[in-house]
Amino acid sequence: LSFSHCNLPQKLLQNIESAGYEIPTPVQMQAIPAALKGQSLLVSAETGSGKTASYLIPTISFCANFRKEEKKPLVMVLTPTRELSIQVEEQAKILGKGLPFKTALVVGGDAMPKQIHRIQGGVEMIVGTPGRLIDLLTKYDIELDTVSMLVIDEVDCMLQRGFREQVMQIYRALSQPQVLLYSATVPVEVEKMGRSLAKEMNVITV
Ligand code: AMP
Repeated sequence: LSFSHCNLPQKLLQNIESAGYEIPTPVQMQAIPAALKGQSLLVSAETGSGKTASYLIPTISFCANFRKEEKKPLVMVLTPTRELSIQVEEQAKILGKGLPFKTALVVGGDAMPKQIHRIQGGVEMIVGTPGRLIDLLTKYDIELDTVSMLVIDEVDCMLQRGFREQVMQIYRALSQPQVLLYSATVPVEVEKMGRSLAKEMNVITV
């Protein structure tokens, strides 16, 4: 499988090439086609495996193909740390360059009014940490019912940090999204979370 066989928007393919990605990594070979088909996934993949692009490519493709009059959030990416959220948003901007695709970063340490303003200005993807997102949801009226894809990166780390309830609260603000879970390790708690987020979850290991 190559990137050009995935039926991706032309501009996204160009961005993948410009990023220097020639061959999909093993996790990308499995996760990209499955995610593009609309399946919910539990992917066990470590940092360095190309996991970030394996969820950014199908989610950006979805956003770019989505026809709508008003710009509303379509994808939410949750990560356990501010640093990881920043990295993910940077990579999303690189891969989504030149496409009808905008991102908002929602992490602690940045001014909240600025973040809310960015979302209200119209973005397709929100990347952030659960704590700050809950703050934002509680203090401001933002509609997330248009979000139809939820990515949770480093689920094991998320649960270790005690974010379970916050993640579930955010999930409930969305309308039964396709769920892409990524975890380096898959202990019982991670599997359990998967079961509580999707009826059917395709397990991918590399
Ligand atoms: P990650 O596992 O998401 O932290 O990615 C590890 C590194 O691999 C990042 O620097 C990516 O830019 C890079 N990368 C991702 N996919 C590919 C690919 N198909 N070919 C070469 N490098 C890649």
